[in-house]
Amino acid sequence: MSDYQEVGCACGKVRLRLDGPPIASVECLCTSCREAGKILETLPGSPKIVDGKGATPVVMQRKDRVEIVSGSEHLREFRLSPKAATRRVVATCCNTPVFLEFTGGHWLSLYAGLWPDNARPKLELRTMTGDLDDPSALPDDVPNLKQHSLTFYARVLGAWIRMGFRSPKFSVEGELNV
Ligand SMILES: [Zn+2]
Ligand SMILES: [Zn+2]
Repeated sequence: MSDYQEVGCACGKVRLRLDGPPIASVECLCTSCREAGKILETLPGSPKIVDGKGATPVVMQRKDRVEIVSGSEHLREFRLSPKAATRRVVATCCNTPVFLEFTGGHWLSLYAGLWPDNARPKLELRTMTGDLDDPSALPDDVPNLKQHSLTFYARVLGAWIRMGFRSPKFSVEGELNV
């Protein structure tokens, strides 16, 4: 199979190789993504990761289909609180947020900004819109899910089954001080 592509941080030091299609291309409207985005966007040179409607676009990819091909020494993790189950990993060479990961999860949510505009997987749905004060203001170009729907879980679970229920580890050099 040659269905792979490379994406990376803004300065090009951190490169990831992705094999096969994503699990899903989504916009997350949850409070945690919006809070983390606000903080990470204060890093010098950091790109904007939360858009005007409060959405964080991410591409979900099986962990066994992501390989960090260069620059892993620049990666640092950020958690909203020390015990948070979610970490967000940033390429500190240029402060590009790279991915979001739930502890024990079998996928990575890669920040959509890693892709050039013309190569980004097309948006399929929005999740966690119930966290917004006024979800009715969202466009209806794709399904707007209040939480995560059954279809959404079926996709995520289906990917894990195909992975043989494994959950590869991604090691990161240390923590990020914001
Ligand atoms: Zn960089
Ligand atoms: Zn979120």
